[in-house]
Amino acid sequence: MTYSLPDLAYDYGDLAPAITGEIMELHHSKHHAAYVAGANNATEALAEARTNRDTGSLPGLERALAFHLSGHGLHSLFWRNLSPDGGGRPEGELAAAVDEFFGDFDAFRAELSGATSTIQGSGWGALSWDPVGARLVVHQVHDHHANAALLSSPLLVFDAWEHAFYLQYRNVKADYVDRLWNLVNWDDVQARFDVARAATVPLDLPATGGGR
Ligand code: MN
Repeated sequence: MTYSLPDLAYDYGDLAPAITGEIMELHHSKHHAAYVAGANNATEALAEARTNRDTGSLPGLERALAFHLSGHGLHSLFWRNLSPDGGGRPEGELAAAVDEFFGDFDAFRAELSGATSTIQGSGWGALSWDPVGARLVVHQVHDHHANAALLSSPLLVFDAWEHAFYLQYRNVKADYVDRLWNLVNWDDVQARFDVARAATVPLDLPATGGGR
């Protein structure tokens, strides 16, 4: 198996009352696990199609891999972005970058909350690093893998699928999003920010002299 379900850094009940243990257990052990299985199944099916030179099945299998692998990746980030000891605001360089690109923290929070709570259908709200413009951006992700600039790196993601909140918050998605802010692990977001920034300028690699 290429992909595996990561363990959480906390217990299912530890994010309550913001997120109940019932939701966390279902979300991690059923939903996230299904994306891991889907990514592995698509990978195996692609290997079989390769062996059989079955190019006709590639579009469907590649679409399935993109969906499940993005679901696996985003959930893995989401669990790490949250902490029972989270909340508050970013500090240091991340705080300065938020001010630079959004004006101030409150404007950033309003934009990410809005992006998350106004998703049409299933999706995510995300804070990402755009390595082309070297800037922070907030954007919606439709399903797990659409409406995001391909080179961007997500730093903080809020799951807006109904499975993430409906058992507890019913139709009041905005209340769920408000409570998520009390769980944000800013140390994790800062660490992802550091890694993403270090990988900036992928369009401007030095000439290698190859490819003649
Ligand atoms: Mn989810």
